Amino acid sequence: MPFVCRCEPALHARPRRMALPYGTLPQGSKLWLLDLGDLSIDEGEVLSGSTVFPVSAPPVKHKRRELIMISALVLHPKRGLILYDTGTCEDVLTSWGSAALECMPRYWNKEKHSLPAAIAATGNDIKDVKIVVISHLHSDHAGGLEHFIDTDVEVWVHEDELKTAFWSAATGVDTMFNKDYLLIGGRLNWKTFSSEVFTLLPGITLHRCAGHTEGLVIFHLTLPAAGDVIFTADMFHVPENYYQGVPQGTLMRNFYAWKRSRSYIMTLVNNLEARVCFGHDKVCFSNFPLSPAYLE
Ligand SMILES: [Zn+2]
Repeated sequence: MPFVCRCEPALHARPRRMALPYGTLPQGSKLWLLDLGDLSIDEGEVLSGSTVFPVSAPPVKHKRRELIMISALVLHPKRGLILYDTGTCEDVLTSWGSAALECMPRYWNKEKHSLPAAIAATGNDIKDVKIVVISHLHSDHAGGLEHFIDTDVEVWVHEDELKTAFWSAATGVDTMFNKDYLLIGGRLNWKTFSSEVFTLLPGITLHRCAGHTEGLVIFHLTLPAAGDVIFTADMFHVPENYYQGVPQGTLMRNFYAWKRSRSYIMTLVNNLEARVCFGHDKVCFSNFPLSPAYLE
């Protein structure tokens, strides 16, 4: 007897994204961009084929990219401080190990680039952060969760990201995820959502955009004066990923999902005439007000 599926047809379709009213953050809201230090990386990690050369080419030097690590800090007049991404942990030598640092050295000054210091430079205190949203659980974005262990600060992440990252860390199948924060049981106050688009608060929308990781979310703010601002995290490490469609190199996990996510973000940005901030690009970052200056 042939198999007859009794599911609703819609269950077999690709997840659909609804056109949602995104809302606007209230008057008095502020947005700071935080500089959490630099990483130096082989360019082939973020641009596919960049460090592949024909056999006839003479010996060539490594091509490297200097990347900035970015966090977004929002002051909501009623809900307090909301943070998107946290940078690295402080002690990367212990956490990452010397072999990883040899390939990807970090340039970081604790007095300036640590998460508490970068938040303090805005006139705020890390102790007043109420909500953290994590784009994805790689070590250069989720490492700063060490500051929120054993607190009641809500840590929001897409359900698929948490599941994939936990599985990856527990089995060791993908070492980009940081075991330190995934395998510590209930000591972080995880909150998850499973929809493709999620309104955290009016004016703060999370869009799941898979590709770099399974459940990466971009951070979409609608500010009362500055309008729409979108932080893409590592959907686009550098502008070539976005503008020319050059895919990531060794950091790509799902090429076809990434292509679909890129189209989705480009449509969103164009339709909203949004300002966009890529995951690690210094020039893009420098086009925003430099903390302690802010958008509102
Ligand atoms: Zn990153």
